[in-house]
Amino acid sequence: MRIANIAGRTTLLDGSGGGLDIEKASDGRFPAEPQALFELWDELREWAATHTDRTDFAVDLDSLEAPTPSPRQVFGVGLNYAEHIAESKMGRPDAPAVFTKFPSCIAGPTAVISLPSPNVDWEVELVVAIGRRAWCASEDDAWNHVAGLMVGQDLSERVVQLAGPVPQFSLGKSFPGFAPVGPALVTADEVTDPNDLELGCRLGDEVLQLGRTRDLIFTVPELVARLSAICPLLPGDIIFTGTPSGVGVARDPKRFLPPGGVLTSHIEGLGELRNEFVAGPTYRSA
Ligand code: ZN
Repeated sequence: MRIANIAGRTTLLDGSGGGLDIEKASDGRFPAEPQALFELWDELREWAATHTDRTDFAVDLDSLEAPTPSPRQVFGVGLNYAEHIAESKMGRPDAPAVFTKFPSCIAGPTAVISLPSPNVDWEVELVVAIGRRAWCASEDDAWNHVAGLMVGQDLSERVVQLAGPVPQFSLGKSFPGFAPVGPALVTADEVTDPNDLELGCRLGDEVLQLGRTRDLIFTVPELVARLSAICPLLPGDIIFTGTPSGVGVARDPKRFLPPGGVLTSHIEGLGELRNEFVAGPTYRSA
């Protein structure tokens, strides 16, 4: 099942360019509002299984918004790929390094994003959305709590993120637009192996990152188990699972996103984000 957000209405995609408005097609049984649908995830999956061949309209991929526009909790995980740890000159963590991205930073898959400074970096990531409340979930049961998967960018303003005696990860990663996700929410059964997907991003034609999710140190089941041992994970919450190597801050010289740049981020089987950047009102060129 592939679910998209079109103009604030949840839409079932048929995989060949067609869409079905879920609220209308279900005669109001399911709400149009994307974030509310996660409370009825199991019922929706059952209903959608009998409606996969129906389409109402052709979907304009440029019109898609974030499939999870307003989650109650957004988790980020740092240092979760060995090569990214090495380029960051950090040690391998014993437990996931967790921060939040405040939900006001969520953006759609084709959002035009304002750069607050010349120090904004890219981090392509697999994003997991929760479908069924998880509290002290076991690793074996973890995938049963996952609604689906998305492509995400954990955009990061590196000066704010790393300033001060205790780095400010949550602030540096939460400017408006710093969490584009999408293009659709894809259930795990739609991909060949949800534990091993190619992911990458490019600026224009230049490849910046390319990796595979099989290299995650803390896997999706481990993250669900470890996070839910502390915070109950709520329907519609999302987890940014970490980025592979190739970020700009680790390069010599350092590189960041330029105004006018177009960043394309992909994950095998999930689709791609295409985000253009513009200079925000406070931007000063480096
Ligand atoms: Zn990240």
